[in-house]
Amino acid sequence: MNVLLLGAGGREHALAWRLAQSPGLDKLYAAPGNPGIAQHAELAPIDPADHRGVIDFCLRHSIGLVVIGPEAPLVDGLADNIRTMGIPVFGPGREAARLEGSKGFTKELCAREGIPTARFERVYSRDGARAALDDFALPVVIKADGLAAGKGVTIAETREEAEAAIDALIAAGRAGGEAVIEEFLEGEEASLFILTDGTSVMPFGSAQDHKRVGEGDTGPNTGGMGAYSPAPVLTPELEARAIEEIVRPTLAGMARQGCPFTGMLYAGLMLTADGPKLIEYNVRFGDPECQVLMMRLDDDLLDLMLAAAEGRLADHAAPRFSGRNAMTVVIAAEGYPGTPKKGGTIAGIDTAEASGARVFHAGTAEQDGKLVASGGRVLSVTATGGTLKEARDAAYAAVDRITFPDGFCRRDIGWREFDRKG
Ligand code: ATP
Repeated sequence: MNVLLLGAGGREHALAWRLAQSPGLDKLYAAPGNPGIAQHAELAPIDPADHRGVIDFCLRHSIGLVVIGPEAPLVDGLADNIRTMGIPVFGPGREAARLEGSKGFTKELCAREGIPTARFERVYSRDGARAALDDFALPVVIKADGLAAGKGVTIAETREEAEAAIDALIAAGRAGGEAVIEEFLEGEEASLFILTDGTSVMPFGSAQDHKRVGEGDTGPNTGGMGAYSPAPVLTPELEARAIEEIVRPTLAGMARQGCPFTGMLYAGLMLTADGPKLIEYNVRFGDPECQVLMMRLDDDLLDLMLAAAEGRLADHAAPRFSGRNAMTVVIAAEGYPGTPKKGGTIAGIDTAEASGARVFHAGTAEQDGKLVASGGRVLSVTATGGTLKEARDAAYAAVDRITFPDGFCRRDIGWREFDRKG
């Protein structure tokens, strides 16, 4: 079967690497891709925002499955448009992608289905917001309704900060001009991944990521500076509870509304004293969480994705994962998450991989035969180990074999686990 993979990050490099190992794969195409993805796929000159162009490409190249990596094309309805041509797609349609595309939509679903989440109120005007704020203690969480690339959330410590955050969202007309006010939840965060065809629920592993740019979780938010899997804090008991109380009612509610969710459901959870509560859904793999999940997957990814896309998971065995721990460390370019410095040369990837680590490319490009940085997050250096500590040591040993003078990484990925263990 020919497969088209859409996206250009470390997540898509990890997916391409795994898909390329599938016995059922004839040819893998990717767009727009990156130099790492090009090791496993033929890069296609199509823009995922051009739905007509994607469909034409699929028809011309007998594509049997399209895998959509990032959220924007999903929220934009690309999966629906491809499916109307009878081509299976891994990823939800526009209506189901509202689970990530509209925080208000997801909160309403939680309220209707009795899904544990932070108490909330949707607000549409400055006056409405001020009245609503009276019902919330500080700190309080203010969120833009729509996609904001991780930049739409303010945790306000004071009333003034909360009002300013809401005014900015509403005045800018950003994300539809709508905001959500949420109660602040105390606890530790963990991510749970679920492979689903709308009905069957197949746990696909857990992870913890590191959003802040600086060590000790300081500085501005980023797309993610590192992750590990599994997340021991999400014990089997808590995972089972999250599936029963959060994931199953979500899928049932979506099906009842006529928009069953298929693909990868990524639940961002807060593990509170009262049990797991939903912070947010993403409607695709996380980046860099995908990199650690792919290192642990001991199964045929193409077969699993196709079964999910075609609604056949009930007849499929649960995905198999190795018992090993995986860690990924993101190397970013100086300046990230502000304006990253581009063009810095990168060397030593082969040496880093000689130890068994995998170096997934994100913002890289080839220039005059050299590999250079072309974006904020540049590489995801990923390794496994019998213990999380071994995975960490292997990942950082690989990081140290890479020469990239303009790059930096956090040296404390996994700190919560290591602190807990002392
Ligand atoms: P991303 O997709 O980049 O994770 P996002 O913009 O979709 O972010 P959320 O995931 O909803 O936004 O929130 C971002 C972060 O803010 C969360 O990972 C969490 O750390 C914090 N946060 C969000 N909601 C709450 C809450 N109710 N209580 C405490 N912290 C919260």
